[in-house]
Amino acid sequence: MGRLAHQPGGDRRLSRARRPTPPHDGGDAIATRLVHAGRDGHAHGVVNPPVWRASTILFTSIADLDAALASPDAGLFYGRRGTPTQWALEDALTALEPGAAGTKLYPSGVAAIATALLSVLSAGDHLLVCDSAYDPTRLFADGLLDRLGITASYYPPGIGAGIAELIRPETRAILIESPGSLTFEVEDVPAITAIARARGIATVMDNTWATPLRFQPLAHGCDLSVQALTKYVGGHSDVMMGSVTAAPSHWARLKTATYRLGQTVSPDDAALVLRGLRTLALRLDRHEASALAVARWLETQPLVDRVLHPALPACPGHALFRRDFSGATGLFAFVLKAGDRALTGALLDDLRHFGIGFSWGGYESLAIPCDFRGCRTAVPPAFPGPVIRLSIGLEDPDDLIADLAAGLARYQAALGA
Ligand SMILES: *Cc1c(COP(=O)(O)O)cnc(C)c1O
Repeated sequence: MGRLAHQPGGDRRLSRARRPTPPHDGGDAIATRLVHAGRDGHAHGVVNPPVWRASTILFTSIADLDAALASPDAGLFYGRRGTPTQWALEDALTALEPGAAGTKLYPSGVAAIATALLSVLSAGDHLLVCDSAYDPTRLFADGLLDRLGITASYYPPGIGAGIAELIRPETRAILIESPGSLTFEVEDVPAITAIARARGIATVMDNTWATPLRFQPLAHGCDLSVQALTKYVGGHSDVMMGSVTAAPSHWARLKTATYRLGQTVSPDDAALVLRGLRTLALRLDRHEASALAVARWLETQPLVDRVLHPALPACPGHALFRRDFSGATGLFAFVLKAGDRALTGALLDDLRHFGIGFSWGGYESLAIPCDFRGCRTAVPPAFPGPVIRLSIGLEDPDDLIADLAAGLARYQAALGA
């Protein structure tokens, strides 16, 4: 299986690669699975699967063509359905979520969220979205799903079992994101998914912050688990990609929606993301430890009102975080006691180690002021000063703390001016 073999009898044509069935993980720890995942059968002896660039796949005969048409996912078929490079990444991501039936890849995290939602929603349906969802998720719900006759409403992230009261007869899906974008509230995912499951409502979770190394959505009752691989899995700020990993009950419709929408990723990008995946456990441990060191230091700073980091006891949802997550990652925010967005340049412009930019999860640290305009409707945030989000990279945390100390001193001076 999966081996390129010359046809017997001097036929120069090669047979199509077949897609191997991934082996069971055998109960190995996640760090071990990260090394093995997706390598069986895809690489033909090379440690990493080669980059198979493909649109046309050649069939050896009409019988071969007909066999492919009968089961297009069993092997190479057409470039849009992937090659061993993309399959290796899909299988690796599937192996990280116990109970998953399979994974599909998308050109961005937003495309993954959009496809996951379109796979479960139809005209006339209602969608519940957590109020702390990633802003482009809201824009997709309010700016595109609404045109398809799908209504979205927003629930407070702390709602838990109270979600039952917001469910309408036409509610067909719930979009969970925990910890929430920008404000890092933790949701009671098992309470929400238990209610949804009892009523046949699909649950889609954006798990970009935690990755399956820190939280497994399917094991907590979700049907579809989304990641922006752009962030921690890619890990090097050089590739855009998203994934959806499905429970068996939702795998067929996810695959269908993905094909119908023409979603596909390049093999070059898949190889980059696969390379990132191999070091994810190491990088996350470092991101987590350094972010906690910076967060704890920030908590002691007189200019800081509070630190929004679910691993800190003062953060809303900390008890749920301890119950459900196996650890944290490197993204959090802090709230300044005074000042406004216009003043944040005094703090951020001259930092030596933090870039100002979107995205996060790369090896380099980033800092950005948060803007809540238009993206909180159920529970508008009330903070005394600006909120700064930090993505803590792989630098030495002492250097990051010294950099922020100098920034806070500049901010203090600007406040007084
Ligand atoms: C960045 C991000 C996304 C979207 O990923 P892209 O690859 O940038 O489209 C989705 N969800 C969360 C929580 C994110 O931070």
